[in-house]
Amino acid sequence: MNEIGLDDLPIRDDLRGRSPYGAPQLAVPVALNTNENPYPPSPRLAEALGRAVAGVASGLNRYPDRDAVRLRAGLAEYLGHGLDVRQVWAANGSNEVLQQILQAFGGPGRTAMGFEPSYSMHPIITHVTGTTWTPVPRTRDFDIDVEAARVAIAVHRPDVVFLTSPNNPTGTALSLETVEAVAATAPGVVVVDEAYAEFRREGTPSALSLLPTHPRLIVVRTMSKAFAMAGTRVGYLAAHPAVVDALQLVRLPYHLSAVTQVVAGTALEFADELLGAVKQLRADRDALVDWLREHGFRVADSDANFVLFGEFTDRTAVWQAMLDQGVLIREVGPPGWLRVTIGTPEEMAHFRTALLAATGRA
Ligand code: PMP
Repeated sequence: MNEIGLDDLPIRDDLRGRSPYGAPQLAVPVALNTNENPYPPSPRLAEALGRAVAGVASGLNRYPDRDAVRLRAGLAEYLGHGLDVRQVWAANGSNEVLQQILQAFGGPGRTAMGFEPSYSMHPIITHVTGTTWTPVPRTRDFDIDVEAARVAIAVHRPDVVFLTSPNNPTGTALSLETVEAVAATAPGVVVVDEAYAEFRREGTPSALSLLPTHPRLIVVRTMSKAFAMAGTRVGYLAAHPAVVDALQLVRLPYHLSAVTQVVAGTALEFADELLGAVKQLRADRDALVDWLREHGFRVADSDANFVLFGEFTDRTAVWQAMLDQGVLIREVGPPGWLRVTIGTPEEMAHFRTALLAATGRA
């Protein structure tokens, strides 16, 4: 076979030179790098999942419910806020939800705006859908300056604006006033990516309450984090029913498999149990923030299941020294900072020991 590389293929010019999204998937004792939930399904849930899959197995010769109505109804009920099935849409991970939003509201000749540092897939999905990416910097404490946002929106007239709250990789959340101010000026749709919503601290709001008064607002959620279902690949959104109609134009038929739908629906029935673990993770997160600050690190406020901390003159060296001790964290975000996902108490004990050794504080 002739040796050919990517550059020899007739790929789209705008894809040349780009790198795929890729958090390392390494086999290490303590993996704290992709904001997964460390608690696997309980034996009771695992058994229920098995029964649910067995229940649909004999019907797998047929296509699944194309509109995933039952799952969407369950998600609407979970979200509350008076939402119904027509206002909720689901897909394979919130990444696919985001891609469908860009396919429907972005595209060639259109612009999407985000406030960086933020989730790296936003610009990637933007580019892949032929949309132009317009980044606006966040403030020093990783917030969004409303005046700067207003000006950037007035200048660029973006078709899609991304607000991520709590934000990845910083963990910081936005006030409702900020979301409202952006929604009031943005000419297109405003996407509030709330992948980490369930990890918010007391008093931090969700944008769901703004939906009745803002028909072009889209709130995106996922079952990958709080529901500990990253392997299932289900993300969803809440928006005006007309937005859901728009997404039907771009979604692939039968995009959510029957197995996915029934597994996600079963996990939803265990919401109380799963959210109990979230409570634990939030407490462990707050304890870690305190511990890091006590040890002289700078730490961004976190409303998520991860913490951004620094600042290091050579963060790669610290990241590597951690990895050498079997603890994988993420080298992401502004230079000098590192991000750690909250794991089990045992994993966090390893993390603390490794960090003190890696930074000469032991
Ligand atoms: N949004 C944000 C802010 C994220 O951090 C992630 C996952 N890292 C996602 C969306 C995508 O998650 P998923 O596709 O698993 O729902």
